[in-house]
Amino acid sequence: MKRRSLFKRAAAAVALSALIASPLATAQEKFTLRLAETWGPNFPIFGEATKSMAKMAEEMSDGRLRIRIDSANKHKAPLGVFDMVKAGQYDMGHSASYYWKGKVPNTLFFTSMPFGMTAQEQYAWFYYGDGMDLMQEVYEPHNMLSFPGGNTGIQMGGWFRNEINSLEDLEGLKMRIPGFAGEVFAEVGVNPTNIPPGELYTALERGTIDAVEWVGPALDLRLGFQQIAEYYYTGWHEPATELQFLINKDVWEKLPKDLQQILRVAMRTAAYDMMIQSVHENAKAWASIQEEHPNVKVKNFPDEVFQAMVEANQKLLQEAAEGDELAAKIIESQEKYLQDARAYIDIADRAYLNNMAEVE
Ligand code: CA
Repeated sequence: MKRRSLFKRAAAAVALSALIASPLATAQEKFTLRLAETWGPNFPIFGEATKSMAKMAEEMSDGRLRIRIDSANKHKAPLGVFDMVKAGQYDMGHSASYYWKGKVPNTLFFTSMPFGMTAQEQYAWFYYGDGMDLMQEVYEPHNMLSFPGGNTGIQMGGWFRNEINSLEDLEGLKMRIPGFAGEVFAEVGVNPTNIPPGELYTALERGTIDAVEWVGPALDLRLGFQQIAEYYYTGWHEPATELQFLINKDVWEKLPKDLQQILRVAMRTAAYDMMIQSVHENAKAWASIQEEHPNVKVKNFPDEVFQAMVEANQKLLQEAAEGDELAAKIIESQEKYLQDARAYIDIADRAYLNNMAEVE
């Protein structure tokens, strides 16, 4: 008996030392990553995506992977997320890729493009087309990885104080509309500006701007535009706005394989969840706008305006492609993917919605 228990103890000691030396033991190391988000504290929908990603990562890893979130009030640099993650000042970021177009023009293509793919088409391009590879090609030289970080769905074309009946009505119109869409609008006579969200209501009320686009019913309702402007235009400029999780590459490479995979799953799930939460919140908010502000009218841009914007967009894309080889590759990939996916969507989703519109 005694010999047997001694043997058992020795075997246990051997097993324990093997365990300590094994990768399994080192995999138990704990990691705390610091994340800077562009949004302020408790920002609806966008900020909830960041929080749910962090919660999932922590629970799936049984506490081995913690993500500490700093909102914009803490780090004071809402549009400095790219630089801070690149420099390793933060390990991760939650923001939107098109905010960096002034630094790295090709980051523009990974949020949403005017007249481009819808959310489901764009997710298909990211995960089954060339999207993820092309995005990584753009972020690689900056020592970062970028992942889809949540989709708003089709954004509304904005709130206008006056109805737009012709191209002339756009001439000199002052509108808050950022990004590539702002450049497209500038081509058709609009005077685009970018004003921080906190100042938008006052700017519209005082006539500093004549029109404003923000996101869609859920987030627009909170800013109160429906109290000032009664024309709510349908979207063209951001048909699938995708937020972004950024990770410093050195930090990513230090994570064990299982934690990398947990992080991937948490980011992808949070992104998907934000897309469906957006549908839910937009539906609720739109019902409340209709009820409380029956004067609000939903409008499509007239054909001549739409056509002029499509042409301006083509012209600007062509200029971007001519100026840069990688831009040309990304634009070609997106156009080809959109064409193929849309041919199917036309006989599926579009046909269904059109048919339903007739029976309603
Ligand atoms: Ca927007």
